[in-house]
Amino acid sequence: MPKSFVGGCACGAIRYDVSGEPVVMLDCQCRQCQHDSGTGHASHIAFRNADVTVSGKASFWISVGDGGTVKRRAFCPTCGASVYMTFPERPEQFSIAAASLDEPELYSPQFTLWTDAGQPWDRPDPALPHFARMPPAG
Ligand SMILES: [Zn+2]
Ligand SMILES: [Zn+2]
Repeated sequence: MPKSFVGGCACGAIRYDVSGEPVVMLDCQCRQCQHDSGTGHASHIAFRNADVTVSGKASFWISVGDGGTVKRRAFCPTCGASVYMTFPERPEQFSIAAASLDEPELYSPQFTLWTDAGQPWDRPDPALPHFARMPPAG
């Protein structure tokens, strides 16, 4: 069954199409992802940048992670929806917001990051591995 990782923002001005398979799927409870999502965590699906085609013009804001990773968070200037995130220092990576998928049920998180910053009203699946901050480098 071929999976179809296509999606976009809430109003349809930004659309993407991914030809490859996900590298990793994860929930992140860091404060930046809380601000970006408007709730307790963001759900990210990482792909290879070369596999992704985007149409429409996004706006961006830049956040810098605790470990110094610069994230360019793309959102729609019309509807405001978070759609994807790129990494100026890691141009091979491209991360999409899980809920922006046309078939969001394709998202299946593998682990949770930044539970240190998690809110008591946002409980990640206790059956999943979780990390207080970032996972050990590997
Ligand atoms: Zn939009
Ligand atoms: Zn985060």
